[in-house]
Amino acid sequence: MLTSLLSPPVTPAVRLSFHRRSMELQKPLSTVTMAFTVVAFVIFVIARAQVTGLELPLWPRLMCALALSLLVAAIPRATSTFVFGLIGAAYVVVLQIGVMMNVTGVEQPLYWMLPAGMVVPICAAPLWLTPRHFVLGTTAFYMAGIPFVFSVPFTHDDWVLCAMWVAIGIPTATTFHFGFYWFRLNHFLLEEKLIALAATDPLTQLLNRRAFLEQAGQMLSAPRSGDEIVSAIFLDVDRFKSLNDQYGHARGDDALLQVTQVIKGAIPPEAIAGRLGGEEFAVLVPTAGTHQATELADSLRIRIAGILRPDGFLTASFGVAHRRGHETAIALLDRADEALLRAKHAGRNRVFVERVSSVARVRATAIDENIDAQADATPGADSVRHWGPFELSTHFQPLYSLSHQKQVGFEVLLRGRDHEGQPVQPELLFAPQSNPDVIELDSLTHHLHFNNARKRLPQDTWLFLNVAPSTFIQPGYEQTLANMASAAGLNPGSIVLEILESEGVSAEELALAAWRYRGCGFLIAVDDFGAGHSNLDRLLRIQPDFVKLDGELIRAKSRASDQPLLSTIVSLLHRADMLVVVEGIETTEELVLAVESNVDFAQGFLLGRPSANIPAADAVMRRIDHAFDVIAEGRIARASRFEAQLSPYLAMVRAAAAALSDGAQVHEAIAPMTAFALCRRCFVLDQTGRIVGQEFVGQAGPGGDFRLGPLRSTQSARWDHRPYYWKAVANMGTAVFCQPYLSLTSGRASVGVTMAVQRDGEVMVVGSELDWTSPHLAWPAGE
Ligand code: GH3
Ligand code: MG
Ligand code: MG
Repeated sequence: MLTSLLSPPVTPAVRLSFHRRSMELQKPLSTVTMAFTVVAFVIFVIARAQVTGLELPLWPRLMCALALSLLVAAIPRATSTFVFGLIGAAYVVVLQIGVMMNVTGVEQPLYWMLPAGMVVPICAAPLWLTPRHFVLGTTAFYMAGIPFVFSVPFTHDDWVLCAMWVAIGIPTATTFHFGFYWFRLNHFLLEEKLIALAATDPLTQLLNRRAFLEQAGQMLSAPRSGDEIVSAIFLDVDRFKSLNDQYGHARGDDALLQVTQVIKGAIPPEAIAGRLGGEEFAVLVPTAGTHQATELADSLRIRIAGILRPDGFLTASFGVAHRRGHETAIALLDRADEALLRAKHAGRNRVFVERVSSVARVRATAIDENIDAQADATPGADSVRHWGPFELSTHFQPLYSLSHQKQVGFEVLLRGRDHEGQPVQPELLFAPQSNPDVIELDSLTHHLHFNNARKRLPQDTWLFLNVAPSTFIQPGYEQTLANMASAAGLNPGSIVLEILESEGVSAEELALAAWRYRGCGFLIAVDDFGAGHSNLDRLLRIQPDFVKLDGELIRAKSRASDQPLLSTIVSLLHRADMLVVVEGIETTEELVLAVESNVDFAQGFLLGRPSANIPAADAVMRRIDHAFDVIAEGRIARASRFEAQLSPYLAMVRAAAAALSDGAQVHEAIAPMTAFALCRRCFVLDQTGRIVGQEFVGQAGPGGDFRLGPLRSTQSARWDHRPYYWKAVANMGTAVFCQPYLSLTSGRASVGVTMAVQRDGEVMVVGSELDWTSPHLAWPAGE
């Protein structure tokens, strides 16, 4: 009770840690005080020897001095506050006994006892860590004096003297102890508060950067069992600035608090988490394997993606790295940060694992020449490899050149079976997400495919080989692959490396790597163009020899007129000197579309499923031939329908042109055209393609895309770059038309019909823009 009066209320845990800290701080002070007391005791014994009286043998007092010295020596070694208190109590008791023995036989023993009896309880303050230690120790000291009190004849004056000792000694010692205790406790609490303030982030109460690094250092230096490693997860909230800017900092702060709650709720107790900067957090976690940290990061990602922000959901990007050797926390976090940057680059809201630095690992682990030799021992049999519980083998899927109507290449695909021989989904095989695993599996796969291709690949065909971007950019892998190929008797010039859709590997890295592979003779293809992160910029940087179009691009159509876009995409890629492959051809319509769109190579179930054997080509060749026939017929039919649908409009412009030549006013010549159903705008253009007078709105109306309001007025517009203008000028006196195009004024598909005439020595082009959006209208084949 006294304790609670004299010190602020604190929890038992805080009190315990205070006592421990006090012990460490008091050890030197206690040692010095006690050592001085031993010296004083010895002087006391020497002084006593000068006085005659009942002589006691010296050795018991010397034993006391020795015991006191041993207790002094024990103080620095005390490991618990209990032991510390026990040493203190033993010390005062032994001292008391020694003093009593020393004064026995003198004339006035009480006077001899006076200094010890009063001074010792006061000076013993450094021995008592806690009030309990003080009370018990002091009581033990006085109790040890009781035999002395009863061993000497006490007069009345002696009793008064003793009472005076106690009256002065106890209150002084009590004041000393509790004052000192209270002062120390308050100092401790203040210190704790300052330490906590200096270590925590004020908003989230997580560790701040400095404290995080400090604790990380401690975690990394702690001993680890067997295969336990420390992993770092670095996360940064996505597009956080926009949240602050649009909805205020309070919203931003609230989001940070919610992210903190997610982190605190998801990480295991042995992990440490900190806020390293504005919206950057880090977690350090001991794990049993590399996947565990990735899974934890992904679960954090999913939970954060459930936090609402006013314009959707909050997301964060993650980088994960695993400690190598004895590296520092900073080095580990740097690698996680690098992975985080790639996650940002790859589109945010994703977890990326650090990149392995060299291909050495691939060389060391992936290619097991012994297995190879065993597999090749049976002539004609395909090689297999093992990956964990799966058996891996090669399947071939043919690629046809549509124009050549023959097989020109085979994509090699990985197939897996489990121990019961059941097929395994490729996703399952590639389930290991970390880069080292992907590279290892990739390299193993390449070796397997090369060995099987050696036996099966027909002459004069390409081998299309998939390579994960992370493998592709490994320095030195081009040479490894070239060596693998030549060991299998394949020429790199017959191998097309398909770079799969990028997982955050930058276009620059891929472009540089592609250059190295080309140097080794390989051809390069970009797979899945149009999907995920495979964009045009990436393509133009890598400059592949082949582009494989994503299935969705094949089916892409224009919004208003529902026309396929494939031919336009193909001509764009042809312009960029890239040959075009379409994958996933499953129906005759798709094959026809591919042929019609000028696609170079096609692949898909219709042309051949992946198989362990090279499939025969005859039936497929007939299919492709049939597609060509369909298109040839269709092209003629569509061209004639198109022209038939245009013919009244051609007659219409002829009449207007004739009127203009005959000297009619512009508006008189144009007026009849406005009555025609598909006419949207009717106009006369001058030598520079500018409108003469004004244009007239026809039956089809001006075109209704309200978003293009600012483009409606064509007063200052110049149209002589349009095909309908220059074709008309080139065919003076003949009515012409152009291919459907996107009108800049209506935002809709249109066809221009025009005719150029000379009037007063000046060229004039009369014409109309026709609304070509109706599905009943024919579209001619592309040029
Ligand atoms: P990215 O997806 O590339 O990470 O974009 P971002 O906007 O999240 O990244 P950027 O680094 O540009 O913006 C971070 C912002 O975080 C800038 C700063 O205004 C804000 N910020 C930093 N500390 C705090 C904070 O304590 N509270 C709030 N509300 N905002 C903070
Ligand atoms: Mg951010
Ligand atoms: Mg940031």
